[in-house]
Amino acid sequence: MGEVNAEQGQQGSRGKDDLIPNVKHVIAISSGKGGVGKSTVAVNLAVALSLAGAKVGLMDADIYGPNIPMMMGVPKPPQQEDGKIKPAEGHGVKVISMGYFVPEETAVVWRGPMVHTAIQQFFRDVIWGELDYLLVDLPPGTGDAQLTISQLVPLCGAVTVTTPQEVALHDVRKGVMMFQKVNVPLLGIIENMSYFVCGHCGERTEIFSHGGGERAAAKLGIPFLGRIPIDPAIRAGGDTGMPIVVVNPASPQAVAFRDIAAKLADGIRGMNAGAGGQPQASIDSLLKKIKRPLGT
Ligand code: ADP
Repeated sequence: MGEVNAEQGQQGSRGKDDLIPNVKHVIAISSGKGGVGKSTVAVNLAVALSLAGAKVGLMDADIYGPNIPMMMGVPKPPQQEDGKIKPAEGHGVKVISMGYFVPEETAVVWRGPMVHTAIQQFFRDVIWGELDYLLVDLPPGTGDAQLTISQLVPLCGAVTVTTPQEVALHDVRKGVMMFQKVNVPLLGIIENMSYFVCGHCGERTEIFSHGGGERAAAKLGIPFLGRIPIDPAIRAGGDTGMPIVVVNPASPQAVAFRDIAAKLADGIRGMNAGAGGQPQASIDSLLKKIKRPLGT
């Protein structure tokens, strides 16, 4: 991809509101490198927000590893309706994925313009209806998809998922700089695979070192949204299409995801208020529900 600059981002923003007028907040879920758990985080945040009563969509734009259909338990391609695409629905979340349309073996040779067109179609031709949040699971790194979505729609902001070690954090900085160049607000960093708690003795081990995500967030001046442990139940949730926030909502892992979802919604509410708008009542009530202890 060529140089990205603020001018490109601004030029692309003309007419951006028209594509998805009924979607309140589009949030990009990004990562500097693959395999850090970006899709896992996207799925669990989307479902956590939906369980709290928000209307949520999840767009899988990760052309190189579109795993969302499996992770959301919606493997079948979506139906057409009046020439438009009716999104699949899993755990209350509307889902669309590159994986439904792109044979695995051809994805790796997709060029920038093809990625751009596919994402544009996902915004334009999918019947999203009214949504509070549309989470977009981006491919890892700083490529065409990131630039495309910042040009096509008014992005509320981007969330970056990382693991705690230095090599992953180095890539985070590059990603953050790219979003800043195209004027996309950084909503925060999430540290995944942060630590492991032994199921037998309860000892906590920090496999990939400690506190890297929080330090990077402080250095870059963006919010730190929280940590997710590395845990077999989270992996199993992804493999079976039953996210941990659904399967075991009272588990510490699910609570960690819900806390992050609450912080994210809170940050967005703050941004809305700061932009001169009224704090949104719908976000307020959503926050109350996410924070409420289970079963009350
Ligand atoms: P990415 O989208 O960054 O490529 P994925 O979300 O596909 O990463 O995750 C890669 C693999 O790691 C998947 O098998 C997933 O289930 C697993 N995984 C992700 N986060 C965790 C976690 N916190 N604990 C255990 N396994 C995880």
